[in-house]
Amino acid sequence: MTHDHQSRRFAFQGGPSAFEEPLPVGQFYFPELGEYRASMEGIFDREYYTNHGPIAQELELHLADFLDVRHVIVLSNATIGLTIAALALELEGTVVTPAFTFAATPQSIVWAGLRPVLADVDPVTHHITPATIDRVITAETQAILAVNLWGGASDIEALTSYAAVHNLRLYFDSAQAFGCAYNNTPVGRFGELEVFSFHATKILNATEGGCITTNNDQLAAKVRAIRSSYGIDTPASVPLKTNARLSEAQAAIALMSLASFHANRRSNVNLHVLYRELLREIPGVTVLKPSGVTDSNFQYLILSIDSSEFGCTRDRLLTLLHNENIIARRYFYPGIHRVMPIMQHITPAEAGYPVTEALSDQLLQLPIGARVTADDAALIATVIAGIGHAHRGSEMEFA
Ligand SMILES: *Cc1c(COP(=O)(O)O)cnc(C)c1O
Repeated sequence: MTHDHQSRRFAFQGGPSAFEEPLPVGQFYFPELGEYRASMEGIFDREYYTNHGPIAQELELHLADFLDVRHVIVLSNATIGLTIAALALELEGTVVTPAFTFAATPQSIVWAGLRPVLADVDPVTHHITPATIDRVITAETQAILAVNLWGGASDIEALTSYAAVHNLRLYFDSAQAFGCAYNNTPVGRFGELEVFSFHATKILNATEGGCITTNNDQLAAKVRAIRSSYGIDTPASVPLKTNARLSEAQAAIALMSLASFHANRRSNVNLHVLYRELLREIPGVTVLKPSGVTDSNFQYLILSIDSSEFGCTRDRLLTLLHNENIIARRYFYPGIHRVMPIMQHITPAEAGYPVTEALSDQLLQLPIGARVTADDAALIATVIAGIGHAHRGSEMEFA
């Protein structure tokens, strides 16, 4: 099959696109339609569609078991989950969070009426560390919102002791870390609480959804009260409530997705291994391994492109891949510190964010998950190798 690929002409050579249909990044693990239909029949029979119904309750129990944590509170999405987390922790002052993360992370802090402080990340692990936090904390800093990135994890032990020493609260955006393990312990029981996403692009899929996990009974009661579920609210004094309920239909998809988690993870592992093998010999291309974890969900395939070795910039490669219908993405681009609207709410660090800058220019996310076959990965690798080769060749001609 690789033979066929190599004799083909692709869009970057004046031929047709490598893929007829756009191939997106993201997981897209959906249950069988028949299974979903059966679940929906149950929901329609009960005529109970939301308000923390029986399926949402069952999902919480299954997740608590899976993650080995005392409380799981399911929610409509992780973005509102992060905002609820800050409200439940009753934070004041500023919250340190990475400059290199998804926009929802710092935005949740602003929505909670607080000021984010951005810390640069470590060039090797891409996570914030005590050293990068140390450069930006002030007397007003009250908490750290760390992000567990790329199916990897922060140095959780180091952050936990740093937070204790500096009297800071610590919570995690674990939207990308469902099913990962740190020191052989499932991510989900660290800091005061953690927030997960069940968006369709993540490995656990409820179409939209998320949850907060914690071992703290009081905090869990507050989160439940803020989510407001009618009937099933817990009595807890909270500053504000919102609607962050997960519907029964969403919970049903999440339950089915949880049941196929191991199979889906295995499929990601196979694709990761295959991509690493296929891309190994291409100059200037490095496939990142999830860092800091003993087990990963492998839900992202992240490349680092060294443009001088590869032959063209990451952005040029991105454009050429899009022409082939390979919808790779710059993740995260631009760095949060370059997003003007949110920077009204943030005082930038004097030293700037050199690592975030560099990563925003070098990293590329490739398709992985349910829509990607081994043959697709081979085709993608052939195209990337060809693009690099063509650019290195033309440079030599012009030299
Ligand atoms: C996906 C993601 C979110 C947002 O999750 P939603 O459920 O879509 O709101 C937040 N933070 C990170 C790091 C993410 O990857």
